[in-house]
Amino acid sequence: MNADTLPPLREVIAAHGLAADKRFGQHFLLDLNLTAKIARLCGELPQSTAIEVGPGPGGLTRALLSEGARRVVAIEKDSRFLPALADISHAFDGRLSVIEADALKVGREALGLQDGERAVIAANLPYNVGTALFTGWLEAEPVWWSRAVLMFQKEVAERIVARTGEEAYGRLAILTAARAKAKYAFTLPARAFTPPPKVDSAVVAVDPLPEGERFADVEALSVVTASAFGQRRKTLRKSLGQAASQTRASAEELLLSCDMDPGARAETIPPEGFMALATAWRAARG
Ligand code: SAM
Repeated sequence: MNADTLPPLREVIAAHGLAADKRFGQHFLLDLNLTAKIARLCGELPQSTAIEVGPGPGGLTRALLSEGARRVVAIEKDSRFLPALADISHAFDGRLSVIEADALKVGREALGLQDGERAVIAANLPYNVGTALFTGWLEAEPVWWSRAVLMFQKEVAERIVARTGEEAYGRLAILTAARAKAKYAFTLPARAFTPPPKVDSAVVAVDPLPEGERFADVEALSVVTASAFGQRRKTLRKSLGQAASQTRASAEELLLSCDMDPGARAETIPPEGFMALATAWRAARG
């Protein structure tokens, strides 16, 4: 079997009895135009190792390999997919290796990257796992990825790219902006998947900011944004009280030290404002 003679994905699913398992949030993308479109967003694949999380029957995996990825390392939790993935590896001359594991428990060391190598990440994941992995990748230092092309439910994608003042603006947009540049690439209707999920999905492409431009104190940023958005309808003077209680300063003092209006609400403050507040919070903790 070679890359041109691999059977269509629907046949692979039928032959291996790979009915979607709801416990693992499985919705497969079988449309070759769409998988190719996602793979092309990954950039310089022939020079890159691609880390794919949740390959399932391997639609996106095949696209990454067809687009010339030097190497694909796929992490899949559901062992039922391993034989189908082994066929793909064989057809593409062993450029695919598979790690059977929960991706939340796989560290960078397990991926076989060279020292200083930056991988491309591609994934179509269930909502909870996707968001947890994404925030972990954003926070990771040193950064080991050069681009992440990720499918989320549309509402989560909107929260990632949201701008100050928009309804979706909140902690996820702020953490993303503090560490990376994210672009909303395109929307996929629920019917693009087999079986269709309840909501539409969207792909985002995320590039880490260069060293020196990434905000380093993600812990402080998390504390101030949790406090501010935990009570997002209140003024910052009130909502930041919880974060301020861990410091020697009052919420008002923290805000004034950053030239911010204590009467403002969280959704009106841009990411840079929260980074300044996080720095002030850290300093006031002593
Ligand atoms: N990438 C395939 C596609 O686009 O057709 C499958 C997508 S399906 C939405 C999600 C995949 O992620 C499934 O194969 C599922 O088994 C896998 N998965 C779910 N949770 C996972 C986890 N924690 N670690 C690794 N894989 C996971």
